[in-house]
Amino acid sequence: MSIITRFAPSPTGRLHVGNARTALFCALFAKASDGQFMLRLDDTDSERSTEAFAQGIIDDLTWLGLPYDLTAKQSDRFDAYDAAFNKLKEMGLVYACYETPDELDLKRKRQRARGKPPVYDRAALELSDEDKAKLESEGRTPHWRFKLSGNKVSWQDLVRGEQLVDTSSLSDPVLVRADGTYLYTLPSAVDDLDFNITHIIRGEDHVTNSAAQIELITALAGEGVDIPVFAHHPLLVMADGSALSKRLGSLSLESLREGGVDPMSINSLIARLGTPDPVEAHAEMDAIVAGFDLTRLGRAPARFDPAELQRLNVKLLQSLPYEKVADRLLSLGIQCDDMQTGALFWETVRGNIDKLEDALALWQIIQGPVESVIDAGDSAYLETALDCLPDEPWDETSWSQWTTKLKQSTGRKGKELFMPLRKALTGQSHGPEMQNLLLLIGPTHVKNRLKG
Ligand code: GLU
Repeated sequence: MSIITRFAPSPTGRLHVGNARTALFCALFAKASDGQFMLRLDDTDSERSTEAFAQGIIDDLTWLGLPYDLTAKQSDRFDAYDAAFNKLKEMGLVYACYETPDELDLKRKRQRARGKPPVYDRAALELSDEDKAKLESEGRTPHWRFKLSGNKVSWQDLVRGEQLVDTSSLSDPVLVRADGTYLYTLPSAVDDLDFNITHIIRGEDHVTNSAAQIELITALAGEGVDIPVFAHHPLLVMADGSALSKRLGSLSLESLREGGVDPMSINSLIARLGTPDPVEAHAEMDAIVAGFDLTRLGRAPARFDPAELQRLNVKLLQSLPYEKVADRLLSLGIQCDDMQTGALFWETVRGNIDKLEDALALWQIIQGPVESVIDAGDSAYLETALDCLPDEPWDETSWSQWTTKLKQSTGRKGKELFMPLRKALTGQSHGPEMQNLLLLIGPTHVKNRLKG
């Protein structure tokens, strides 16, 4: 059976690193086994779901490099949910309930006061047809609960291991609200069944839904059905243990992208967080897939440190060959004459930047205009420097030819020898290797800048 995973966000906001991690796990798991990865938009909540957020999620996944093979939208599938609901009704597995939220709240408070778990008491099962008719004549409309079996449900969770849930300890889940809209539970089970999802990989905040979903899938498809394999991963928390939710704005993929973070640094980090495996900067998804194993995830929440992401981002960027950044440099306005100059530029500047955008300032040093800095007392030295410039065309030995000759003719050495050249040629007292900068700046600009 070929593997199909699904990532099922609600388009009620943009993705953040925590959701991205779930998406990455789903995509990597499918990729590692030549399976398929589905994006399912859980957009049954028509008030909060928007097209713009749906498009944002698609853009974020594309940017991360997690293309999906299949896609579905729950708002297209109400017929399937209605059919499933009617089937459950015919089977006597759903029942109408009339309690208001306040009444349910009161029940729970009473149960707690008596030291009992706040599990729905199934009072609605006792209602006769007359009772129901009376309640409806009072203007109440029913919500519908699924009747759990009361048996123990077990599954082998890829992350959590053997799981056993006694469904008699759970409230029968509400499938349909009083206003007729579906809650998440039924549509999700119907979709997982209809789309032949083999692996449900999601956050452990959903572990409590699994027993009910297993019973729903079994009720709808019959005893022999293949239940998807579950993998509930611990959630991401901040490095200090606090919830990610407090920082969602700054941890959205959109703002990380705007901040110059490379998607592969995000993938490299979140694929390994929570496992004992080292985090390394990978430029290729294949390298991440190669070391990926869901069963290596621990049970503790994985800690996300934005500073670690930034460090990884710098490392990744600096490790990239010119071909990998050429297009992005071009879109910043850095247009090198040829591949060779481009490669030289990149080799020269990559050690001096924290994000790609930083390359622009260094490019401006090469292109000019540059305000040469010539300290009092260095004018004569720079005149000599102009005379000592090596013959053209310049190559990678030109800088050392130049400075050796200057040293001999002026007697200067060390900082005294080099710093005035750097300041005159770049306008700054620090920066990338002068040997390469000399070549990139080229004879015309070099001569002009030495003259001030
Ligand atoms: N729409 C649900 C969520 O965003 C999906 C949960 C699941 O993967 O089953 O949390």
